[in-house]
Amino acid sequence: MIEEENNPIKSVGSVVGAQAGTDEATVFENKLRPKDFDSYIGQGEVKQNLSVFVRAARKRSETLDHTIFYGPPGLGKTTLSMILASEMGTELRITSGPALEKPGDLASILSNLKEGDFLFIDEIHRLRMPVEEILYTAMEDFAIDLVIGKGPSARTMRINVPRFTLVGATTLMSRLSNPLRDRFGHVEKLRYYEPDEIQSIIVRSAEILDIAIDEGAAKLLAKSARATPRIANRLLRRMRDFAEILHEGVITEKVVREGLASLSVDKNGLDFADQEYLRTICEKFSGGPVGLSTISAAIGEDEHTIEDMIEPFLIREGFLTRTPRGRQVTDRGFQHLGLASADDQLRLV
Ligand code: ADP
Repeated sequence: MIEEENNPIKSVGSVVGAQAGTDEATVFENKLRPKDFDSYIGQGEVKQNLSVFVRAARKRSETLDHTIFYGPPGLGKTTLSMILASEMGTELRITSGPALEKPGDLASILSNLKEGDFLFIDEIHRLRMPVEEILYTAMEDFAIDLVIGKGPSARTMRINVPRFTLVGATTLMSRLSNPLRDRFGHVEKLRYYEPDEIQSIIVRSAEILDIAIDEGAAKLLAKSARATPRIANRLLRRMRDFAEILHEGVITEKVVREGLASLSVDKNGLDFADQEYLRTICEKFSGGPVGLSTISAAIGEDEHTIEDMIEPFLIREGFLTRTPRGRQVTDRGFQHLGLASADDQLRLV
């Protein structure tokens, strides 16, 4: 329910168009986004499921059931949502959990949707509870309950909102409350990509951006992209800079090797932040276990960034484990850094 004063629905500036953003990275990102299922590489099972759900919804002239995508950043959740909206022939409105400060912000967005629209909420696990509660009736009954007035004279008014599809994206599914999770008809997990899929993404992006890249260079770059399309595209742009300024314009294996070394990206794709994180746990906390807030203070990095951007890939690569007592670097993690683990040191004594 929403506490409102005079105007029950306030306008907010948090909804942005799908193609909004003018900084270089956003412009590139939008240019490289696949527009349909065919050009969206990998995630075969997810794509297959979604295309069945889309065809079924279209056949019955219904809106698509609410859908949630989860997985680390840069794996293609936003892109897939845009494809879904386009396949359903409708508009996608984008906002994010942290941008919706008050229930009124969300109420305003919902009541301005058109029938059949998609509403995409990124980082949906970061919605504030009073805002999240508005979603429950909106998702189930396509209605929101407004509280008009204050004190004893307050009354509740229910207003209908257009039938819409909510698409949520989250990097941390476990943070979602049960009532919210239960209201999604489709739950799809996006996985890290295989090296050959990343290589195909690099080749596709190079074609779109008119960048010359050798096959061997694309393969090498793919191995260093943390199995993540966004990172692959970012590295491709940086390699183009090195190729254009320091070489003859073509991205070769030599350019990739030198370029990655200049960017401090190692052979497993760990960048400076990843390496600093691992090294800090090994050197200052004997490999752990150590709590997230302690690591955050030690390296001066925000806890959300550590949980969302750094840890998932390190866990996937087997360099890190999460235990009830905190984060712990594995033997493999120690070996990767060329350090001896605490166990190894004991064995040496
Ligand atoms: P997320 O929402 O999960 O953070 P995005 O959908 O914004 O990720 O994707 C980041 C970038 O990676 C986009 O610019 C897009 O071009 C590219 N990308 C993501 N997934 C794919 C894919 N399966 N095939 C090709 N490019 C992809």
